[in-house]
Amino acid sequence: MQIPIDKLKTMVRGVARTQEKEYSCDDVYQLLDEFTEAVAQGKDVAKLMPLVQQHLEMCPDCREEFEALLRVVRAAQPGA
Ligand SMILES: [Zn+2]
Repeated sequence: MQIPIDKLKTMVRGVARTQEKEYSCDDVYQLLDEFTEAVAQGKDVAKLMPLVQQHLEMCPDCREEFEALLRVVRAAQPGA
């Protein structure tokens, strides 16, 4: 049995609504370069950009984008 993606998104939004602040996908997209570089540098992104981190945890679309970006950033950092 499969849950329709729209229903999943609604469920996720319901969870997100309990947070005081939240980022939209657009907000996250704007910060994704910076966030990904911070991750690649081993920075504590949960502290630096908690709202981005939080969004990625609940948004598969943005997480996919982030993971693709992270691969690119890591590939550009030999020896890291
Ligand atoms: Zn998103």
